Amino acid sequence: MAIKRPKGTEDLLPDGSPKLTLDVSAQAHARLIDTARRVLERAGAMRLDTPLFEEAELVQRGVGGSTDIVRKEMFTVYYFGDHGGYILRPEGTAGIVRAYLQNGLKQLPTPLKLWLTGPMFRAERQQRGRLRQFHQVDYEAIGSTDPLVDAEAIALMVEVVQALGLRGVRVKLGSIGDPEDREAYNAYLRQTFTPHIDRLSDDSRDRLERNPMRILDSKSEGDQVLMAELGVRPMLEFLGDEARAHFTAVQNHLKAWNVEYDLDPSIVRGLDYYRRTAWELHHEGVGAKSALGGGGRYDGLAEVLGGPAVPGIGWAFGVERLLLALEAEGHTVPANEGPLLYVAALDEEHVAHAATVAMQARAVARAEFAYRALKPAAAFRDAERRNARLVALIGSEEVADGTLSVKNLHTGTQTTVRVADLNALLAAQPDATPTPDQENA
Ligand code: AMP
Repeated sequence: MAIKRPKGTEDLLPDGSPKLTLDVSAQAHARLIDTARRVLERAGAMRLDTPLFEEAELVQRGVGGSTDIVRKEMFTVYYFGDHGGYILRPEGTAGIVRAYLQNGLKQLPTPLKLWLTGPMFRAERQQRGRLRQFHQVDYEAIGSTDPLVDAEAIALMVEVVQALGLRGVRVKLGSIGDPEDREAYNAYLRQTFTPHIDRLSDDSRDRLERNPMRILDSKSEGDQVLMAELGVRPMLEFLGDEARAHFTAVQNHLKAWNVEYDLDPSIVRGLDYYRRTAWELHHEGVGAKSALGGGGRYDGLAEVLGGPAVPGIGWAFGVERLLLALEAEGHTVPANEGPLLYVAALDEEHVAHAATVAMQARAVARAEFAYRALKPAAAFRDAERRNARLVALIGSEEVADGTLSVKNLHTGTQTTVRVADLNALLAAQPDATPTPDQENA
């Protein structure tokens, strides 16, 4: 039987593929990332890349030994003769903060804004929008506790969503306070849940012991019902003075910039190094349990990784989830533009010359050529199938004169153009395929 791709992975497909949908379009992925890049780089974020696999210890400490990710979803990497202590990265932040510490990035201006994109790996059960290899766009701002940095991070996420043309996105905002606030809250939760321990799900009973806040995150219906019955008070009521002032300042900045959000007491982060601001972005088309992305402040993380205390905040979007949301809003796979120029030779002996002309034209536009001699009618058919706009034909006469016979398939006009003038003609075309630089202008 033919070999298939592993469960929970996707092939990103080229334009024209019979099974093409927006979420698996390689082109749509690339464009989405490019849109995010533009927004983030305009805000001063610099790109970095970290390895796809890291020391298991980094993931255990950086993501947290009590999380599902570390307990159930890690891909372990082995290679011959090795101790096997590597993990495919399940998220970006731990690796980024490790890279920050290891490479002396502390010397750069603060807050240091970084962004990263690439695949992440979690051995989850596959569902719509839940893959084992998925892609994220990550943003991190390291070195500052200023609430302005939090508000900017959230606003940037909203800006990315707007730049993509997504409309139905809600920001759910919360604060998990400082460690001592959380201690008080966890004590309250233990007190509240312990008399009802037999009604909690197995997972939540486990959490009650280790990390009661994570019960609030539970997907078990029974847990949800119990919480509603008990009228569990939200974390926000337990914020200390400093965390409260910080949270108010974040909200005031967002209001000043007209960034809309809903306060959401259910936003929790189970790990000790998370502090204060935490948020998620949601979209109806992707489902309530599947966030488009989320972020949080992690002022304790650098120390957990063995470095000095360095505050930080960051977020991650799931690229596939954004594409599903775009699909739900009626966006479709972007049309394949096709080459501006298609060059064909009429005789076998001139095929190589046709190739040379096309390759020279690539200095200014997308240009393709026929790999064998074609009659004019066949050349036009081929060019149309490729969505080309101009067709240049080369026969003996043209070669002798140093010219090309160029037909515009949109207007039907045909002209003779000197090979030496071809690139100028292409550059003057209104829709000449923009170079990446023009596209980003
Ligand atoms: P997290 O690191 O869990 O906060 O995830 C950040 C974002 O990555 C989520 O909001 C999703 O958009 C995306 N994401 C996380 N896990 C998956 C997955 N298994 N498949 C697809 N996207 C995911």
